[in-house]
Amino acid sequence: GRVDNPYAGAKVYVNPEWSALAAAEPGGDRVSDEPTGVWLDRIAAIEGANGGMGLRDHLDAALEQKGSGEEVVQLVVYDLPGRDCSALASNGELGPDDIDKYKSDFIDPIADILSDSKYASLRIVATIEIDSLPNLVTNTGGKSTATPECDEMKANGNYVKGVGYALAQLGAIPNVYNYVDAGHHGWLGWDDNFRPTAELFKTAATSEGASVDDVHGFITNTANYSALKEENFTIDDTVNGTSVRQSTWVDWNRYVDELSYAQAFREEAVSVGFNSDIGMLIDTSRNGWGGSERPTGPGAKTSVDTYIEGGRIDRRIHVGNWCNQSGAGLGERPQAAPESGIDAYVWMKPPGESDGASEAIDNDEGKGFDRMCDPTYTGNARNGNNMSGALGDAPVSGHWFSAQFRELMDNAYPPL
Ligand code: BGC
Repeated sequence: GRVDNPYAGAKVYVNPEWSALAAAEPGGDRVSDEPTGVWLDRIAAIEGANGGMGLRDHLDAALEQKGSGEEVVQLVVYDLPGRDCSALASNGELGPDDIDKYKSDFIDPIADILSDSKYASLRIVATIEIDSLPNLVTNTGGKSTATPECDEMKANGNYVKGVGYALAQLGAIPNVYNYVDAGHHGWLGWDDNFRPTAELFKTAATSEGASVDDVHGFITNTANYSALKEENFTIDDTVNGTSVRQSTWVDWNRYVDELSYAQAFREEAVSVGFNSDIGMLIDTSRNGWGGSERPTGPGAKTSVDTYIEGGRIDRRIHVGNWCNQSGAGLGERPQAAPESGIDAYVWMKPPGESDGASEAIDNDEGKGFDRMCDPTYTGNARNGNNMSGALGDAPVSGHWFSAQFRELMDNAYPPL
């Protein structure tokens, strides 16, 4: 049977492909032995895209790393029909209606491999479909943030069906631990989004043969940049009688950082019917925000805005910015059970891999050009019409971005 926290007492698989890229950068050997997520981001990744390692190669390598102890392997299951409906940078290979192909050509072959008895001794963490279900809550309907693509995925039901099917098939394998993507505080931390998202997750987790028992927990901040802990203020602080929730930065959110959000989301998920022993993962690969720009104390108590602006650790221009953020650093190193309710801090997004190209680049992966990755872009409704804050000269999403990796190391917090 499954253990409560798969990370407890276990090593975590170091992806040799990522490790080699990291080690080839100056100073990269300081982090190249850290575990990172293995992204199954297209059908070809199962057998190995472009001559790279396939799923069996990774699992075989994990068995070698395991030795006689326990070993976690971290997979990201990421190929839904109509993927990335609110953006363009990670559009995928499957069209909005390709749900049957998703099941038969993507999930079924993954489930076949994971259920091979050869791999039964591994603890396989499967994080399910980043940036999918929350889009149906925040980026649909009459909202200013809506996109036609997300409206379509809501109407055709294929995100819900795909997630349900993935949970059911992978959850049937006794050594697989499913964690569903739960966005991040700067996306779902508002009252309008928080509970509806938990309820939608319940709907997905009880469709296509899945049940809540197929969900071991949730992951937050995947491939995002939200700070783990805002050390210089809390959501309950006031300045001259005004709540920090009224500051421009917080903007009525209920949460100011990922730890408080993840812990609260855990409770919310339990309250809508998920099991009471679920655990959370937080992706800390790029939310360190160290370096010379990191505030050393709270801002001036002149107004809520001076207080927050002077003290905030997350240095983004806007909390809705998500692409190759300038100034970011590596966050907490991966570790098990760091806080109550948190199964692990993980590096699910492999640091150094781009979030998206900063200009249009031809590719055969279905990836588009999203202007949120263009440093000259002045924004849209989803980032409050702010500058994108992205680094320039970025390659297509998932491709190695050396300059970003070097900056992430320079701005690591805790420092390297
Ligand atoms: C890309 C994937 C990639 C992943 C990890 C995503 O943004 O769309 O292709 O595998 O990042 O770098």
